[in-house]
Amino acid sequence: MKLANGSTVAIVGGGPGGTLTAIFLLDLAQQLRRQLTVDIYEPKRYTCTGPTGCNMCGGVISESLIQMLATEGILLPDSVVIDTINAYILHTDFEAARIDAPRQEMRIATIFRGAGPKGSEHQQPLPWQSFDQYLLDMAIAKGARLREVSVSALRLEEGFPVLIAHDQPPLRYDLLVGAVGINQKKSLQLFEGLNFGYYRPKTTRAYVAELYYGVEQVQQRLGHAMHVFLLNIPHLKFAAITPKGHYATLVILGDQIDQEVVDRFFAAPEVQKCLPEGWSIPVKPCHCQPSIVIGPAKKPFTDRIVMVGDASVSRLYKDGIGSAYRMAKRLAYTALAHGVSGKDFQKYYWPVCRTLLWDNRLGHLLFAFDNLFRTVPLLRRGMMALLRRERCQAEGTACPLSSAFWNTFTGSASYWHIARELLHPMTIWKLLRELLLRNKTHSS
Ligand SMILES: Cc1cc2nc3c(=O)[nH]c(=O)nc-3n(C[C@H](O)[C@H](O)[C@H](O)COP(=O)(O)OP(=O)(O)OC[C@H]3O[C@@H](n4cnc5c(N)ncnc54)[C@H](O)[C@@H]3O)c2cc1C
Repeated sequence: MKLANGSTVAIVGGGPGGTLTAIFLLDLAQQLRRQLTVDIYEPKRYTCTGPTGCNMCGGVISESLIQMLATEGILLPDSVVIDTINAYILHTDFEAARIDAPRQEMRIATIFRGAGPKGSEHQQPLPWQSFDQYLLDMAIAKGARLREVSVSALRLEEGFPVLIAHDQPPLRYDLLVGAVGINQKKSLQLFEGLNFGYYRPKTTRAYVAELYYGVEQVQQRLGHAMHVFLLNIPHLKFAAITPKGHYATLVILGDQIDQEVVDRFFAAPEVQKCLPEGWSIPVKPCHCQPSIVIGPAKKPFTDRIVMVGDASVSRLYKDGIGSAYRMAKRLAYTALAHGVSGKDFQKYYWPVCRTLLWDNRLGHLLFAFDNLFRTVPLLRRGMMALLRRERCQAEGTACPLSSAFWNTFTGSASYWHIARELLHPMTIWKLLRELLLRNKTHSS
């Protein structure tokens, strides 16, 4: 079962998982001198502002992903990169600590997935470009065909996937790629209904809002730093405000985030300091409550069908686009170099998903530790003291805690790498020393 000259591929979903798969398939096919027909099915218009054009995400791209994309010839233009971040500010209930990029060249990019937040259409022409549209245009430039319709039915005929979209006649393909993300339950049901054992990943509800500050207030209140909040609010695991030109993107992750958590977050004094002076929460900011992947899908492939991106697996709470990149690249290699049978995907594609899956298990463990720091004030004080001490150290001295935080927030490294930094005997010893010092100061 191979993708030969003249083979056809349907990609359902034109988010990063789908477009990167198309780009890698078409690039590799060209190198192998094979002619492929690649159809991307995507009804969303990324040129529209607000929810119509948006794939609901924080829009932070780690420096490692920027570099990996650059090696593929995918250079993000200035119009796509809205801001760059060179530091994190970690806010707790009693103080804040700054964590600078470990190296000068380490920069994180912030992007809009669609054309921008609801209401930004009043700025004409828009000063930025959609990240998803940029990837989609690149896939089209490489030869992919865009079908601006939603796929409404799938079936198998003589072992081949057949796809029905809107009013077009059923089409049979040699390979069907499910890149439908996690937010459209009906689309996930279409793949589950093919009965090859696929079952959607486990998810929870997150919260994203685009808050209008104006450029000056963004600079004044946030600068070029992402503001991360370690607050003791039930259900909240991670909350961050990220500068994005005129806007600040708020992301709240945790266990079924609801309006009560959001209200408690906004009311926290540490958060108020990062909002423009005299600012009150708009009645209806551009916001959404998307699902976020917290567990892997079951059996994301079979003969001639494979799932990619969020619909398969994603790195826990970070680097979803980077995960989609890794899977898309391996998928294209498997399909063209080896084949499109379930066995080929098991042997060559599954390892990349499995690595993410195992890493996420460690991620869950690290977030359990994070909970401990969030709820025990003494631990929090010790951690902040160590971060402060690392910042005062001479340049070139190892700063394992700052580095672990940097890697956690940026998504630049695996949880395995972060755990090695955090659980290094020297880091534990330094933290214990800070805790003892704090304890002494408190009791004297
Ligand atoms: C709150 C939150 C914050 C996040 N922040 C970040 C971050 O800062 N950085 C990061 O790297 N990742 C982040 N992520 C994760 C990231 O958004 C996802 O990992 C990424 O979007 C996955 O890409 P995808 O292509 O698999 O799915 P998606 O981006 O969801 O794309 C799926 C596409 O499929 C289309 N589709 C669905 N059904 C059909 C159908 N039947 N027919 C045709 N098309 C269909 C949809 O319209 C959509 O465009 C965040 C996620 C959440 C929830």
